[in-house]
Amino acid sequence: MAGRLVIIGAGQAGFALAAKLRALKDTRPITILGAEECLPYQRPPLSKKYLLGEMSFDRLLFRSESWYAENDVEIRLSAWVEEIDRTGRRVLLQDGSAVDYDTLVIATGATPRTLPAAIGGDLDGVYVVRDKRDADRLAEEMLPGRRLLIIGGGYIGLEAAAVARHLGLEVTLIEMADRILQRVASAETADIMRAIHVTHGVTILEKTGLTRLIGKAGKAGKVEAVELADGTVVPVDFVIAGIGVTPNDRLAATAGLETANGVVVDAFGRTSDPFIFAAGDCTLLPFEGARVRLESVQNAVDQAEAAAAVIAGGELPYLPKPWFWSDQYDVKLQIAGFNLGYDETVVRPGAREGAASVWYFRRGKFIAVDAINDAKAYVTGKKLIDLGRHPEKALLADPATDLKQLLL
Ligand SMILES: Cc1cc2nc3c(=O)[nH]c(=O)nc-3n(C[C@H](O)[C@H](O)[C@H](O)COP(=O)(O)OP(=O)(O)OC[C@H]3O[C@@H](n4cnc5c(N)ncnc54)[C@H](O)[C@@H]3O)c2cc1C
Repeated sequence: MAGRLVIIGAGQAGFALAAKLRALKDTRPITILGAEECLPYQRPPLSKKYLLGEMSFDRLLFRSESWYAENDVEIRLSAWVEEIDRTGRRVLLQDGSAVDYDTLVIATGATPRTLPAAIGGDLDGVYVVRDKRDADRLAEEMLPGRRLLIIGGGYIGLEAAAVARHLGLEVTLIEMADRILQRVASAETADIMRAIHVTHGVTILEKTGLTRLIGKAGKAGKVEAVELADGTVVPVDFVIAGIGVTPNDRLAATAGLETANGVVVDAFGRTSDPFIFAAGDCTLLPFEGARVRLESVQNAVDQAEAAAAVIAGGELPYLPKPWFWSDQYDVKLQIAGFNLGYDETVVRPGAREGAASVWYFRRGKFIAVDAINDAKAYVTGKKLIDLGRHPEKALLADPATDLKQLLL
């Protein structure tokens, strides 16, 4: 039997890796060390149905406790790893204990960026959304009529805005960049999503920076207002910062592994130490000749499963096939592919009202699609990417074209 595998991080990637090894009939001892106090769970509902109160936490768990015992996977919760001792091949925990490994996996995820304390980022009532605790605290604030200010027009901010409007809050969202979704989607997709939010009553202020958060009587305490870059003061009851994440690569960096805004891994999930793998949000991985970070369920699962196959003795590289989704109101945004470096887009109206898709091209090659309430466009785009096909732009833009035709 192979030696002990230790996984740091009991999240999407850590769980997927352990489960895949057992599915591959690999019987080596596995220990998962997780900082949180709960069993591994899916995060996407934290800014969607869980925050809305429409999904219980039990439904978020990947598996119940019995699965870990039945599959001989030791899981230690509230177990924060302080250090990796590569020479001694062991990890050191905050509680002073150590766990020996033969193979180690770093699956530590990412941490939301926070606003600096110097501008009031440490006031009470300023939230991020990453884990169950964040969502539970936030849910208590989500009461009808309260005033919420969201900083950042990315997916997390927009999803939180949708939940808050659904629950009857007054919502203002500010975005420093020229437009919402600047980092992740085209201007056309942003236009569609902005219009949906405005229709639902969200005030969206783009090109709008933040000067400071103001607490009670200007001192520390609960946030009461926000001063924008143009001097406007907006009264608030609470604030959500959705301003991106930073990968949790400190353990790897301190241990001398190669990091560069993420733990650098090869296509097999290997770090610069042959006994240490990494997977999920904490990694920087190869993709079409570049090194990228992919913060998604798809990547966490597929990359972890590929690494598990390598650990079990396989040799297949992980070739990311990115997909992503976001739920806002009754709108399902589905994304296939990765629009990195796109230079052209084609907008296609959907067959029913409120449906549309935005198709991304790079040097004439089709690379990704954003499908808004348009499952057919999503499925077709995904298949085209798998097949390496590049549809005619004019055909795509023509609503009379049956998408099936593109696959023939
Ligand atoms: C609110 C929200 C909504 C999202 N919505 C979507 C979506 O709609 N679609 C989508 O594809 N993706 C979505 N994502 C992203 C997706 O959830 C992540 O990409 C995925 O969880 C990454 O998995 P991971 O295992 O790398 O990290 P995580 O799931 O974050 O797990 C990492 C775990 O490691 C633990 N850890 C960190 N450091 C240590 C340490 N030193 N010692 C011990 N444990 C440690 C952390 O506490 C955490 O539990 C969303 C994320 C959030 C937060």
